[in-house]
Amino acid sequence: MSQAAEAPHRIAIVGGGAGGLELAARLGKKLGKSGKAHITLVDAARTHLWKPLLHQVAAGTLDSYSDEMEYLAIARENHFNFRLGRMDGLDRARKEIFLAPTLDENGVELLPRQSVRYDTLVLAIGSQTNDFGTPGARENAIMLDSLDAAEHFHRQLVNSCLRAQAKRGPNNGQRFTVTIIGGGATGVELSAELHMTAKIITSYGLANFDPEKDLKIVVVDAAPRLLQALPERLSNAVTRELQAIDIEVHTNEMVVEVSKDGVKMGSGKFIPSDLVVWAAGIKAPDFLKSLDGLETNRINQLVVKRTLQTTADPSVFAMGDCAACPQGDGLPPVPPRAQAAHQEAALLARSLLRILEGKSPLKFTYRDRGSLVSLGNYTTVGSLMGAIARGSVFIEGKIAKLMYWSLHKQHQVAVTGFFHTMLAILADAIDWARSPRIKLH
Ligand SMILES: Cc1cc2nc3c(=O)[nH]c(=O)nc-3n(C[C@H](O)[C@H](O)[C@H](O)COP(=O)(O)OP(=O)(O)OC[C@H]3O[C@@H](n4cnc5c(N)ncnc54)[C@H](O)[C@@H]3O)c2cc1C
Repeated sequence: MSQAAEAPHRIAIVGGGAGGLELAARLGKKLGKSGKAHITLVDAARTHLWKPLLHQVAAGTLDSYSDEMEYLAIARENHFNFRLGRMDGLDRARKEIFLAPTLDENGVELLPRQSVRYDTLVLAIGSQTNDFGTPGARENAIMLDSLDAAEHFHRQLVNSCLRAQAKRGPNNGQRFTVTIIGGGATGVELSAELHMTAKIITSYGLANFDPEKDLKIVVVDAAPRLLQALPERLSNAVTRELQAIDIEVHTNEMVVEVSKDGVKMGSGKFIPSDLVVWAAGIKAPDFLKSLDGLETNRINQLVVKRTLQTTADPSVFAMGDCAACPQGDGLPPVPPRAQAAHQEAALLARSLLRILEGKSPLKFTYRDRGSLVSLGNYTTVGSLMGAIARGSVFIEGKIAKLMYWSLHKQHQVAVTGFFHTMLAILADAIDWARSPRIKLH
């Protein structure tokens, strides 16, 4: 009697973000197409948007529709399966994950509670904003960590400008104030992008709204300087640029409360604010803290070995922002950045292939390629490191802008391939000439 063919190995990837989607696409092409493995990607959303673009969506300088990718379409092109659902539980003994019921936009159940079986599980569910329990932050500040939040912020911004236009004097003589808490890359990039948005909105005929006089943008950070994680020279250059366009910077100021009227700081200062954005710090989703005995750190990240395997279970991997991966040599864990997620996806794709062939997993080494901070149309500054230069080289202007842009394109190439990415670039160029410079709704 002939033996039944062995069932293909089941790889489930949860989270189709900067890291998980690249991994699914790579594995789909390498293993899914030939039937050597069955790849399933699970995500709580139906579409993917590369997260570093969120501040542009918030400012309206990017229409998210043009950059969103449909998971179902990518899955079909890359030979993996897509399951819509939000993971909320794990049974390691049965090798099964659980997805909460999915509701439609009216709150009606679209999909019931589901489960997905796996042989190998990769958790790539990213991170969310950490408000460190600051009173009033959840209720009164917008957390810029999802497409919904970025779109919500944008609507509030446009509405406020329209309201200002309808009044006899703009905002009743008060400056419309946006306070951004967090002077890291996200907060800094958002501040410059917002300044540009206000200028463009005015050029579309908001007669009563003059960004120079009527809009105030404030960035607050508890650290002694902006971009604390980046070299001081870069931080100084960015601070100068922001101050040149009249963005107010408060460093060494710890926010102790956010109310509907504004932001209170430990020093006693109060910034009356119309819109508050919280962009300081991240944590991994809370449910990871009690995920069937997997080890987590103080910000809920899953603790993994250099192979990206969780410390408690070699068949469960974690990558990207939700993982704390050691670097060794007394260095802090791999930072929560898109370039880290991109590199981990590339390594894990090769490593899982080896594991299926009965070989040992590969170890991850993070290569810091440097950091780039885009100040909208004003400038881009950054420092390049690693393969391009020994130590760090400061770059600015058009070269930096091109490198920043290429980060996103690398992600698109990994997911949709070179040809599609080139077509998308061409379409973007045509769209740029055809459409308004910002989204006005
Ligand atoms: C505004 C902003 C700007 C940034 N700019 C930069 C930058 O310039 N350079 C840089 O290197 N990094 C930047 N980052 C950080 C970068 O975006 C992250 O490090 C990167 O996206 C992490 O990738 P990831 O795959 O771990 O998670 P993500 O890209 O966050 O993807 C996580 C995915 O998991 C899904 N998900 C979450 N929970 C569940 C669940 N329970 N069940 C199922 N699916 C789930 C989400 O829907 C999402 O698709 C920025 C971040 C923000 C917010």
